[in-house]
Amino acid sequence: TGIVSSDTTLTQKMEAHGVDVNSEIPTQTSSIVSILASWVIPLLLAFWFLSALSRKAAKGMGSMGGMGGFGGMGKSRAKEYKAEGSKVTFKDVAGQDEAKESLMEIVDYLNHPEKYREIGAKLPKGALLVGPPGTGKTLLAKAVAGEAGVPFFSLSGSDFVEMFVGVGASRVRDLFKQAQQMAPCIIFIDEIDAIGKSRDNGIHGGGNDEREQTLNALLAEMDGFDTSKGIIILAATNRPEVLDKALLRPGRFDRRVIVERPDLKGRIETLKVHAKDVKMDETVDFEEIALATSGAVGSDLANMINEAA
Ligand code: ADP
Repeated sequence: TGIVSSDTTLTQKMEAHGVDVNSEIPTQTSSIVSILASWVIPLLLAFWFLSALSRKAAKGMGSMGGMGGFGGMGKSRAKEYKAEGSKVTFKDVAGQDEAKESLMEIVDYLNHPEKYREIGAKLPKGALLVGPPGTGKTLLAKAVAGEAGVPFFSLSGSDFVEMFVGVGASRVRDLFKQAQQMAPCIIFIDEIDAIGKSRDNGIHGGGNDEREQTLNALLAEMDGFDTSKGIIILAATNRPEVLDKALLRPGRFDRRVIVERPDLKGRIETLKVHAKDVKMDETVDFEEIALATSGAVGSDLANMINEAA
């Protein structure tokens, strides 16, 4: 091939053999192909992408019903647990006596709001459950709802964060609108650090705008609603130190309920709670197991019993 490509007289030779070197290569078909490639295919792709997105958003709403497609994009994905359905009570939460005591006050308020109104006391709008994963924060929040017999909205901080700026904020507003219709009720936000991270740490990663808008919406909604209606927000985190100060100021999540790893007594109680519905050998000694599992949290112990069963 080296010979052919360096042969400068090639065209002449071709002409001599009767090839019409000046005739143009037919471009008719190739221009259609190029139009297809540069316009139609990207349009089709974009259309497919958008419809896939809106389908996903519509699916995310689940039984919340309402509009499909883009209209429903900002709908909150809060699930509503009927109080009758979640029969969790404080009895199901082993140990954690101090946490239960602080939460009892909230339950009492939801049951007898007039008692507090008479004195002129206002209940905090929210309480922050702080503790390592698996210590029963979600369980405690459910128990508060169960004890007070009110609906329970549960969602995770990351549910708000979406790739579009503004979606999270509109979800927050939507959630509060729904909660107000269902009041009295409990809103439980798991992993609140996903949106409540301190804004002044100087590290601006991607999606910062979105998180900030979501946080601002949450702060605004928390200021806006009236506690006398009986909406209480419980939030859980295992990293309280990264939370924005605005979230922690009085009138918002000013209460902290510490949910610690269970001690020996707590572990024995947790084992008992979970062994209730499991057939046990007479030789099982909960104290012995509890002694051997220092540092284990509630979910570890629950899992241990289940694995054994
Ligand atoms: P967190 O929200 O703190 O990560 P969860 O409340 O989701 O933890 O707990 C996970 C599971 O662990 C619960 O469903 C429950 O079965 C078990 N568990 C945790 N703590 C306790 C406890 N104090 N008493 C009984 N069960 C517990």
